[in-house]
Amino acid sequence: CGIVGYIGKRDVAPLLLEGLQRLEYRGYDSAGIVITGKPAAGKAAALKMVKAKGRVRELEARVPKRFAGTTGIAHTRWATHGAPSDENAHPHLDPEGKVALVHNGIIDNASQLRVKLEADGVVFLSETDTEVLTHLIARSQAPTLEEKVRQALKLIEGTYGIAVLHADFPDRIVVARNGSPVVLGIGEKEMFVASDVAALVSHTRQVVTLDDGEMATLKADDFRTYTTEGSTTSATPTTVEWEA
Ligand code: GLU
Repeated sequence: CGIVGYIGKRDVAPLLLEGLQRLEYRGYDSAGIVITGKPAAGKAAALKMVKAKGRVRELEARVPKRFAGTTGIAHTRWATHGAPSDENAHPHLDPEGKVALVHNGIIDNASQLRVKLEADGVVFLSETDTEVLTHLIARSQAPTLEEKVRQALKLIEGTYGIAVLHADFPDRIVVARNGSPVVLGIGEKEMFVASDVAALVSHTRQVVTLDDGEMATLKADDFRTYTTEGSTTSATPTTVEWEA
């Protein structure tokens, strides 16, 4: 249903919760947030996640006091596959906790892919169609996050707006669109992503709307857009008019 993401220098959890609140008008049954925690010296970055059935307020109440990080993605879910529950709320993590995914839309061939993955020993933690995509990204042997996501998307049929974090690639958020809106918000040394400009306009009016078949990589001070085939697309930000 709704997606918000941020990469920059600010404390990310309050920003994402505020963004989710701005998407509440669209309706949803559960919500969740995942951030890239500050890595301890010499350690890899670790993802930290909180999810809750119900309102964004209930999610907020579950966010621990120490939930520091400057990169994260969040979601409000409108269930299509699997009942509203804590487990089925997005984000969905792979069992190693490396990949985190939020998804709007419907993966039509999810049940076939799930059967194959389960036959391969993958243990599913939810009933959603979305979770297959998390496992496909986590199992890709491709060297870059962009390529992992691209390979996984090739295997699925359906609609998606997605945002992906990976603990081994903590400097970026990768997003993709096919039939479900994804808008980038371009800031000063900070980048936003959302499924709806309503979640961006209090931070920036400079936006890039992805087309179907387009992906983007967001870093704190830089972004680029390209097709799911990998060729670069032009992405000149436009200024949105908005009456607050
Ligand atoms: N199909 C996904 C699910 O049921 C995403 C639903 C949504 O767009 O919120 O979890």
